[in-house]
Amino acid sequence: MPDREAADAPQRCVYFDHGATSWPKPLEVLEAVRAAMEEHGANPGRGAYRMALAASRLVFDARRALADLFRVPDARDVFFASGCTEACNLMLKGLISPGDRVVVSSMEHNAVSRPLHVLAQQGVEVVVVRADETGVVHAHAFEQAVREAPTRAVVCQHASNVTGSIQPIADLADIAHESGALMLVDGAQGGGHLDVDLPALDVDAYAISGHKGMLGPQGVGVLYIRPGLEARELLEGGTGGGSSESDEQPGMRPERYEAGTPNTPGIAGLGAATRLLLVHGDEWRATEQRLYRTLKEGLLAVPGVTVYGPAPEEPAAPIVSITCDGIEPDRLAFLLDRNYGVAVRSGLHCAPWAHRTLGTLETGTLRLGVGWGDTDEDVAIVLGALREILA
Ligand code: PMP
Repeated sequence: MPDREAADAPQRCVYFDHGATSWPKPLEVLEAVRAAMEEHGANPGRGAYRMALAASRLVFDARRALADLFRVPDARDVFFASGCTEACNLMLKGLISPGDRVVVSSMEHNAVSRPLHVLAQQGVEVVVVRADETGVVHAHAFEQAVREAPTRAVVCQHASNVTGSIQPIADLADIAHESGALMLVDGAQGGGHLDVDLPALDVDAYAISGHKGMLGPQGVGVLYIRPGLEARELLEGGTGGGSSESDEQPGMRPERYEAGTPNTPGIAGLGAATRLLLVHGDEWRATEQRLYRTLKEGLLAVPGVTVYGPAPEEPAAPIVSITCDGIEPDRLAFLLDRNYGVAVRSGLHCAPWAHRTLGTLETGTLRLGVGWGDTDEDVAIVLGALREILA
């Protein structure tokens, strides 16, 4: 992994909150954000002067890099959004209508469960399939639920933001397609942390967070919708073209789904991060996985710690949730920060469904998310700190 030193101002901190957002960001990302504001600060896709064309190029290059990373043949099927939350809202509200039936996992984040709640109020039937005690959903349970009645969509996360559990997306896509349903995926914790091949997964739509494993800045995300499938857009507005024809939103991709001035600095940062992942992704993921396993095995050996999620040797995104005897997750997170300089998150992690599944709804968990820049030393520090606090 690269040396973190240069980018970790203002304070050295042992950072295990990559499930929320990655930190620090690679220097190339910081530089791309700066350049997008300073050197190419015009609006992309609008004016024809050189700075505007340079801004358009920057967005084009970022879209191309993302398509390459996720093996999407046509970059026009990749849309920018403000985050995975917006991408999930567009995917769900744009493709599911009143009267439809959807089958969804019990591990979903609020970015999925809350839009589905709104859709349920509009007459969508939402059937929840329960995951097992490690947070993994099983294809046969989905198969049963999908076969019970005509279903518009199977909705499932790629990886849990609470346990790191990886869901069997390709199998679920087969089940969905056999019944004529769509396969819609919340890939917030997949992008960057997993090697995601969208054509191989055969999904109809996949929402990505730009600022977690993807290593881009906050405020940017991505939605892929397979060619030939069109969603109702969330927003109508300016796209830089098509204004002389009618008041209708232009149907062309990607503009159709990107009304308004885009977050060019965010997209530039995400583009730079994606280009880094194209070169170093395999190596960085291998390091992340090694540190995740060391951390999880270490946590399992600390007396008084309960570890949730798959066994350390099972495939998982690099996230671990724990609870500890005699001390609430909130208090533990506070002590880790104040006394040891360790940044972790406690609580429900915006995923009450997942905690209901795991039986941790009352107190939530302490979540450790491993990612870019973390080291063996960091893992040793957090394990030592927990042993000391719990002694
Ligand atoms: N889904 C999952 C599983 C997540 O972990 C998150 C972020 N916590 C989101 C969706 C929302 O992502 P964003 O912050 O990019 O809106």
